Amino acid sequence: MATAYYALPAAANYYTPSPHQHRQRGARMCDNCGAVEEPTIKQFRLCGGCMTTNYCSPDCQKMHWPRHKTICQHTSSQIAASKQQPLSADYPEENMAKLLRRFASLHTSLLGWAGFQALQLKRIPANVRQSALLVELSYRPSSDPHRQFSIKGTYVVPRTYVTARDPLVAADIQRREERCRHAGGIGCAIVLVQCGALSQVMPVEVDAPGKITWDERVDWEDVLRHFVDAGRTDFKPISTTSRG
Ligand SMILES: [Zn+2]
Ligand SMILES: [Zn+2]
Repeated sequence: MATAYYALPAAANYYTPSPHQHRQRGARMCDNCGAVEEPTIKQFRLCGGCMTTNYCSPDCQKMHWPRHKTICQHTSSQIAASKQQPLSADYPEENMAKLLRRFASLHTSLLGWAGFQALQLKRIPANVRQSALLVELSYRPSSDPHRQFSIKGTYVVPRTYVTARDPLVAADIQRREERCRHAGGIGCAIVLVQCGALSQVMPVEVDAPGKITWDERVDWEDVLRHFVDAGRTDFKPISTTSRG
């Protein structure tokens, strides 16, 4: 049962942290033209199908549809399937795909940073093509939406763990990767968030090493646990150079 679900990550989550330092943390990006939303002017729209992809305008959404259609329908069918399995009688409205998406959204910056540290991208950028970070979560029912999960474990897994099992997600990651490299970045780091039988993919577009001011942190897992356990969503990457 679990194996079958692992073969199909629940939803490709695209709350990608901004690859550029000057952009606001967690700012939304138009998936068609790459425009970044001004946090003070919330004018971007969310795709109603997959609820994960953002657009700056109806025109961009329309233009992107032929390319987005397949992954969009795949994502929404995965979410629909997980709704058939409520977490418990106490939380009939909740479903794991939704909770994982919210978790990834709340901790976008932290998860992207953890992926960067776990894959040692500062020293070995080529790891971005070999490995992925798997973050395993435990669910703990809580009325506080910021504290519904704790970290069960973290693992560096082969990237094919994600890409070989779901061609549609792999194709969409590939598209982001090309866009990222075109802009001078090293590619997409993959962070996989998993709870029980469901998982969610989060591609993080990573800048060229020279542009990244984040320090290496060997205790990244402790930092990750601390912020998740405390329900803190104010994580900021630590840097000793310029800003970050
Ligand atoms: Zn756009
Ligand atoms: Zn969509």
